[in-house]
Amino acid sequence: MNAKKVRVRFAPSPTGPLHMGGVRTALFNYLFAKKHGGDFLLRIEDTDQTRYVPGAEDYILEALQWCGLNPVEGPGIGGEFGPYRQSERKAMYRQYAEQLVESGHAYYAFDTPEELNQLRTAAEAKKEVFSYDLHTRGQLNNSLTLSAEKVQQQIASGEPYIIRFKMPENTDVVEKDLIRGEVKFNTNQLDDKVLFKADGMPTYHLANVVDDHLMQISHVIRGEEWLPSMPLHILLYEAFGWDENRPQFAHLPLILKPTGKGKLSKRDGDKMGFPVFPLQWTDPKSGDVARGYREDGYFPEAFVNLLALLGWNAGTEQEFFSMDELIQDFSLERVVKAGARFDPEKAKWFNRHYFQQKEDTQLAEAFKPILKEKGVDVPDETILKVVGLVKERCEFVADLWEQGNYFFVAPESYDEKTVKKKWKADTPEKLQEIIQLFKGVEVWEAASIKEEFSNFMNDKGWGFGMVMVPVRLALVGTSAGADLFDICEIIGQNETIQRIERAIETL
Ligand code: GLU
Repeated sequence: MNAKKVRVRFAPSPTGPLHMGGVRTALFNYLFAKKHGGDFLLRIEDTDQTRYVPGAEDYILEALQWCGLNPVEGPGIGGEFGPYRQSERKAMYRQYAEQLVESGHAYYAFDTPEELNQLRTAAEAKKEVFSYDLHTRGQLNNSLTLSAEKVQQQIASGEPYIIRFKMPENTDVVEKDLIRGEVKFNTNQLDDKVLFKADGMPTYHLANVVDDHLMQISHVIRGEEWLPSMPLHILLYEAFGWDENRPQFAHLPLILKPTGKGKLSKRDGDKMGFPVFPLQWTDPKSGDVARGYREDGYFPEAFVNLLALLGWNAGTEQEFFSMDELIQDFSLERVVKAGARFDPEKAKWFNRHYFQQKEDTQLAEAFKPILKEKGVDVPDETILKVVGLVKERCEFVADLWEQGNYFFVAPESYDEKTVKKKWKADTPEKLQEIIQLFKGVEVWEAASIKEEFSNFMNDKGWGFGMVMVPVRLALVGTSAGADLFDICEIIGQNETIQRIERAIETL
């Protein structure tokens, strides 16, 4: 069936920000295309105008770009199968819906929304669910029950109608999903889905199938939530006579909450403090801001790497993959059926890895905007030194400030516990002597400061801890931080002395 060129599409609906599950779908499509020398397309499925959200399409494009998942065809990109926004293809769908009516695979339905609502309410009262299907279609207001003249007349007079698929009776639809293996549906469980709406727009089902056909899509790789639509889509391909060339299907596993049952949702992120969107999103109506991986300081490489492992593995122990390695190793056979649990701690761990891999100069560049925001103005050389000293303790660029702020600003307070334990009655006196010592240091470099300090301590016979910790407290504010003499060197002789003096005054 599929000797044709691999062409896959990511087909989001612009109804809001892209969930990280959506990005994973895009990623797997992209990897599959690249692996097989095929094309990765972006198609915007915006036929449901009631759910359209301004800004969502730009968001999708920006998110793909950030992740390095650049489509070769799509809105704003071009390609020979365009347009790639379904709203701009509107005019072409009607003929396909009509074609199915003509061939007896679909029918016009004139039931008003009010009538259908009544039927739903009536069914609910009997604890049943109303379904427009082979059992009910014969009693409803459609071209199967009305005479041909009446139908023509109603259409001619401008009465609103929709077109529904006439689901065949008791037919098994069996498909070998490339991830889930054989899946079987019986049409008796399926209703007569709407293909074409009264507003002149196709539904998702019709537009999706028509476009996948016209765009010569070879593989439909999408989330598990679309599996129930597959039998209808297959029947549509058959009804159109496109069966020979139709795409193969692969339904990706759900991404599950960190704990408990169910699909990962924005609420989980809000509750546990992690983003579920690639980029920050400001809701155009409410103004609410949802956090994004990018703004939270994740590197795109880390984000892509962690997404790749949500439902796929290489069959080895390897966990770190560059995009090229992913393309090399990716296969749908190694995508699992079971839901993939998202672990926010692991996400940080991935970021830590890519953080540690960066050159100090890159990290220093990324650190600069934060320093600027804090009002810190120091030479590049200093930033670079600090990065080198504290990066080991960091996962994110913002951690550089957390771990290294004392290099740039004096402590505003002193850790109480350490003070209690290490700040003794004679500490100020000792520190005065250290100040004198420091004032006399001629070459203000870590090694020479250390040497003079050690000689002095040995001469005095003082315990190192009893002096070092108070000095650290004075410089950092806590008992933590980088090597004491590195700190002295970087903040400079005057600042070192001033900070010690300030501690003596304050404590
Ligand atoms: N528009 C659908 C979505 O929002 C596309 C599903 C599919 O890939 O068929 O995910």
